[in-house]
Amino acid sequence: MDKITMINEINRLKKEKNAVILAHYYQDGDIQDVADYTGDSLYLSQIASETDKDVIVFAGVHFMAETAKILSPMKKVLLPVKEAGCPMADMVTYAKLKKYKRENPERVIVCYVNSTAKVKALSDVCVTSSNAEKVIKHYQDKPLMYVPDKNLGTYLKDKYDLDMEVWPGFCCIHNNLNLKIVNEMKSLHKNASFIVHPEAPLDVVKAADFAGSTKGLLNHVINSDLNEFIVGTEEGILHQMKKACPNKIFHILTPDLRCYDMKLTTLEDVYLALKEDQFEVNVEEDIRTKAFIALDTMMKLS
Ligand code: SF4
Repeated sequence: MDKITMINEINRLKKEKNAVILAHYYQDGDIQDVADYTGDSLYLSQIASETDKDVIVFAGVHFMAETAKILSPMKKVLLPVKEAGCPMADMVTYAKLKKYKRENPERVIVCYVNSTAKVKALSDVCVTSSNAEKVIKHYQDKPLMYVPDKNLGTYLKDKYDLDMEVWPGFCCIHNNLNLKIVNEMKSLHKNASFIVHPEAPLDVVKAADFAGSTKGLLNHVINSDLNEFIVGTEEGILHQMKKACPNKIFHILTPDLRCYDMKLTTLEDVYLALKEDQFEVNVEEDIRTKAFIALDTMMKLS
């Protein structure tokens, strides 16, 4: 099937099944373009919780589809590629976090949305990179544990001087960034402003002209008077940046900023998901209700 026919089929099946397609900014451009909504974790979570469609096709990774199911339990949630996971989410397990909680009952568990439903169920509140700073301010006077991203956790701890322990997890692509790569790119593009996601190590974040969530970076380049940027996050966001600012110049900090799991999904997988109802994501009800509380608390505070 050629690309145009496949896009037409996706649109036909979407109507037939009363489905909505959500695509994360890190998906390939073709998938972002065929989606009804494209965004970061926070925005897509909000859409998932509000949609009146029967079926949610989540072009992203497993924890995102799980989050949609937690927020919209009556909907059928489909993840086009069953194996699309997030290595960072798997770096904190239910058993290890449960043990930590037993040993540290005084600590509030703040959980990055990039985590499994079972880990969310053990947590007091979730955050995304878009709302982490806003949500964390409500817990500033309390002892905290932040799971699983040590880099975003360290960034928050440093910025707000928090009594916060951080789990030693990380995003495999952002964690590999370092000052040598940054300095090389800055010397190649002397007029470019360097912007970065706080999943990068703290020294890299501090070297940036602007740090923010994926959505924050997109808004920043749209609103900035500057014309040239070195972008330190997953390369999928360049699709939206170039669409929104066709006259500005964007350089990806390194070609390694490509998430293997995010890029597993193809247009054909989205088509097959709709056609064959694959692959349905479910969450056990007792886990779902506890995880819902952590997500709902986040929504109310953000
Ligand atoms: S970019 Fe990093 S945090 Fe996001 S899905 Fe890929 S590995 Fe996980």
